[in-house]
Amino acid sequence: MQIKPRKPTMKGPAEWFTGEVWMDGIAQGEEPSRLNVSAVHFTPGARTAWHCHSLGQTLYVTEGEGLVQSRGEPMVTIRPGDVVHTPAHEWHWHGATHDHFMTHLSITEGDMEWGPHVGDSEYRGEGD
Ligand code: MN
Repeated sequence: MQIKPRKPTMKGPAEWFTGEVWMDGIAQGEEPSRLNVSAVHFTPGARTAWHCHSLGQTLYVTEGEGLVQSRGEPMVTIRPGDVVHTPAHEWHWHGATHDHFMTHLSITEGDMEWGPHVGDSEYRGEGD
């Protein structure tokens, strides 16, 4: 058993996010596991770009109020305790609402593929 040294909080790169996002790594599987668990902290209005996960993703909301959207579907509001599962290869984004912080745990295996940023009008639900 090991109490792991705490890793520094990392800023989410601008290629992947709009607005300020901070990430804390929690767990990384050892081979052959590809598990990755991170806490992702979105400031109000911050969100991921469109992306998908090769083996899907589970989100567990721990704080605040957020939004998720899958391609071709309406935006959905998420709150603490909500569990959101996105299947493999389904394009989607997630983030905070415009007036709240949001933190979720992200549980993934596999790789991510990144697409365009979520523009302001798209984020407001006005289409693009
Ligand atoms: Mn995702």
